[in-house]
Amino acid sequence: MIQKAKVYLVGTGPGDPELLTVKALRLLQTAEVVVYDRLVSDEILDLIPPGTTRIYVGKKTGKHTLPQDEINALLVRLSETPRQIVRLKGGDPFIFGRGSEEALYLARHDIPFEIVPGITAASACTTYAGIPLTHRGLSRGVEIVTGHCRGDRPLDLDWQALANPDRTLVIYMGLANIDEIRDGLIGAGLPPDTPAAVIEQGTTARQRRLSTTVAELPQRVRASGVQAPALFVIGKVVALAETLDWFVPQGASAIQVVEREQHG
Ligand code: SAH
Repeated sequence: MIQKAKVYLVGTGPGDPELLTVKALRLLQTAEVVVYDRLVSDEILDLIPPGTTRIYVGKKTGKHTLPQDEINALLVRLSETPRQIVRLKGGDPFIFGRGSEEALYLARHDIPFEIVPGITAASACTTYAGIPLTHRGLSRGVEIVTGHCRGDRPLDLDWQALANPDRTLVIYMGLANIDEIRDGLIGAGLPPDTPAAVIEQGTTARQRRLSTTVAELPQRVRASGVQAPALFVIGKVVALAETLDWFVPQGASAIQVVEREQHG
């Protein structure tokens, strides 16, 4: 009997290999082919057995290594041979990960697939930075948005809805548009002194957290040279990081790293 190939769309979480699910780890270790993104950390790639075929299809905003339709076509081509194919995705495949687009494509081509959720950056990076997404009396809910837009089009976000001081706002891919984000939120009435943080390379040994206010966010981000991947968190809960910050990447607290850079 000829077995069909199967594609597993697997979320890895944001970097720390110990945040992989047991299922993700098992599939990674039994895969015949692993197709992966730029966002998948080296520590996670190290868990792939040496004999496994690895294919890099990473993307960087503006610098596409492989356009999405070519990734889709690649998955279909790989599926022509019966085997276990693992498509790794940073974080969760269904949160700004285009996992659903790939799954729709596979479905259209009648290729069996499974999807393994991963811990998304909004959850893991904030937790590793000591910022609870909700907290009684500080935040009644969470809004997750992308700060990325195509080309030079303006950001199409509903600022009135987002400028809610009783909720936590988490922004993925916001680095390039941080000025517009600050202006949009303050313009819609969010108090300029609302606590705000950026978490760079969250959950990895290179994690940095910078806490400030929404008004000063763009300037502080530039002064500290924050690079992607970076996650923005805006809301009163950010202030709790001063007490709850527990994760010490490589022995130096993220705050200290940021301060040394600013003063030196
Ligand atoms: N599917 C992923 C998100 C992909 S979009 C997930 O569920 O997390 C890529 C964006 O995710 C980055 O620009 C950044 O905003 C955020 N991100 C992912 N990993 C991150 C990390 N380790 N630290 C900070 N931000 C991260």
